[in-house]
Amino acid sequence: MALLLIRNDNNYDSWIKALKAEDPKIAVHTPATVENPGDIHMAITWKAPHGVFEKYPELKVIGSMGAGVDHLFEDPSLPQDVPLTRIVDKKLSGDMQEFVLAQCLNYIKNLTGYTQLQKEGVWKPMSYKRVADVSVGILGFGTLGQAVGKKLQKTGFKVSGWSQSKKNIAGIKSYKEDALDEFLEDCEILVCLLPLTPATAEILNQSLFEKLPKGAYLINVARGGHLKDADLIAALDQGALSGAALDVFHTEPLPEDHPFWQRKEILITPHVASVSNAASVASQVVENYKRMERGEELLHQVSQEKRY
Ligand code: NDP
Repeated sequence: MALLLIRNDNNYDSWIKALKAEDPKIAVHTPATVENPGDIHMAITWKAPHGVFEKYPELKVIGSMGAGVDHLFEDPSLPQDVPLTRIVDKKLSGDMQEFVLAQCLNYIKNLTGYTQLQKEGVWKPMSYKRVADVSVGILGFGTLGQAVGKKLQKTGFKVSGWSQSKKNIAGIKSYKEDALDEFLEDCEILVCLLPLTPATAEILNQSLFEKLPKGAYLINVARGGHLKDADLIAALDQGALSGAALDVFHTEPLPEDHPFWQRKEILITPHVASVSNAASVASQVVENYKRMERGEELLHQVSQEKRY
């Protein structure tokens, strides 16, 4: 019985080191070191090549190395009868909290605008907003969305969240799936933290932007596939949105000729909001490996039906 790591960037050292430190008895392989594919019972992956799971007939668990699992479902040959898991980690949530808080503060205090003015040698005071006067809405109010919401609320923002099921969190207004329009009415800043599924793909589109308060600000830290790129450009041109902070894109790295690069109102970061750290998540991978061996319920299992 062995654990297989598969990554698109072949960056295995930190994962092998962290898993060995957690439990040196577990046999950990990369695709290059597997001698007998039948030995592989669990695969932990990040953007594995499509079709790869067919090589391992005894797989009992397939896990994502991150919180998102859309990369697994993109593979048409993903086995439908093998349980899937993902990462839920305090450090991942903490990093996302800090990143989104930084983006919200940057926006209401115009810091990116001043960076641009400094380059031009221009001294031009601009009006700013106070956190207590700003409403932030979070699309996708799950593990990361709730962590971010609590942080923003603690900082003084007015916070609401939108999810399939209603949540009960003190001081935060929770909206169910069917109340999207009502939720959007009050979002001066909209943060996307949804999983990418057929139901949420391109949800950030013209029709949604029109339901936000005029001049709202968009923060997309979920997936590039949530955004209709051309609709964002149009919304900026028409003033429906005043700007956007984008950490994720349809194609990463963002192609050199993509129009987003030319827009001063768009702040681009290279998918760095919150990155899984092998040392931090190795214990839950090892715990799931042992649960699999014992035939017990797995941690952080993903629904094949809901796709998150
Ligand atoms: P969760 O599964 O914990 O939360 C997902 C939330 O979205 C839940 O509240 C769920 O509702 C809601 N949701 C899902 N589908 C719908 C729908 N159709 N309508 C309304 N609400 C819906 O995920 P996480 O919070 O852990 O992660 C969210 C995403 O963040 C990941 O999938 C990943 O893509 C992205 N991410 C980005 C990173 C970055 O660095 N930029 C880093 C890590 C993650 P309910 O609670 O009712 O089920």
